[in-house]
Amino acid sequence: MPQDAFDWIDAQQERLRAAGLERILRPRAADSALIDLAGNDYLGLTHHPEVTEAAARAARRWGAGATGSRLVTGSTALHARLEEELAGFCGFEAALVFSSGYAANLAAVTALSGPVGSGTLLVCDESNHASLIDGCRLARAEKTVVPHADPDAFRKSLAAHQGRAIAVTDSVFSVDGDAAPLRALAEACRASGAALLVDDAHGLGVLGDGGRGAVHAAALAGDRDVVATVTLSKSLGSQGGAVLGPARVITHLISTARTFIFDTGLAPAAAGAALASLEVLRREPGRTLRVRAVAGELHRRLTAAGLTAVRPDAAVVSVRAPSPEAAVRWAADCREAGLAVGCFRPPSVPDGVSRLRLTARADLSDLQVAQAADAIVRTAPAV
Ligand code: PMP
Repeated sequence: MPQDAFDWIDAQQERLRAAGLERILRPRAADSALIDLAGNDYLGLTHHPEVTEAAARAARRWGAGATGSRLVTGSTALHARLEEELAGFCGFEAALVFSSGYAANLAAVTALSGPVGSGTLLVCDESNHASLIDGCRLARAEKTVVPHADPDAFRKSLAAHQGRAIAVTDSVFSVDGDAAPLRALAEACRASGAALLVDDAHGLGVLGDGGRGAVHAAALAGDRDVVATVTLSKSLGSQGGAVLGPARVITHLISTARTFIFDTGLAPAAAGAALASLEVLRREPGRTLRVRAVAGELHRRLTAAGLTAVRPDAAVVSVRAPSPEAAVRWAADCREAGLAVGCFRPPSVPDGVSRLRLTARADLSDLQVAQAADAIVRTAPAV
């Protein structure tokens, strides 16, 4: 009797289950009463009436989908305005909007290291987000992975290479919430004429003057050798992504980036929502200060109670768990106590250590922050 073609999947799932690493989808309720410390709606904008109304208006005007790739029928006046607004807000010459931050990262890394045979070296922080890692895997370039947040390691790798090179890093690392040393990385790049590519997914809306991002905060926005990527799905409460940089970089992406050329454009509703969020953010920069204060307060309360948590540089607060199984149980106990938290386990953690991943939100009250911290401490596994 020949084996069924997918029998191997059952065996693999069994191994994942036994190791506490199985993933299960749990659709959330629209009207959940849980305090949400798991989503990435950092500024509390995804339900903002101006944002949802802008999404609805855009869908009515332009349709529920973009209808085609950006180069065919998928570009609308909304996409053009969003690109102008994003570039202006973050301090870059130009921007290009993608259907996701993931696609934006794939585009930036692959297109900037092409064409084949360019001899480009990609130097990557070992804790970079999966989408940057996948961009590097797709890029037909040489790659070096260097220790986390170590500008000297970047400098040495870049100096040892003849020809084009790009240093690739997150601005705020998505698992531990710590910030990259962007100024020192830019100096390392400039010492050898390399470009700096920064994924500012967790910086936009949270860091920099009025939420203009970590690259703006490091006074690197708009520089000739710096490119940033952002997502519209976190602080801006929408969906989609963008690459920001010099106009000639954007021109190059339009002609060569495969995740731009062969992907259907961002849905008009998402573009409209992101535009409305940018408007709210410009008007209410206090949201940026509040989300950072909430992150700091969560960290203070958890560490005061003896838990091991990384000091947050932005909105992500990462709390260590003793094992994947303990992390899953802890997250479930938090849920019982009225709190949704992220649970990160291998392979989503670069060092193999499981964690609860908490995301601060600007719209949490002081009371909710205190209740959330209490619930996490009360349900913590014994170590
Ligand atoms: N970069 C980082 C650092 C992220 O955390 C994420 C989202 N998890 C992405 C890129 C991908 O963005 P998107 O969800 O818009 O595809």
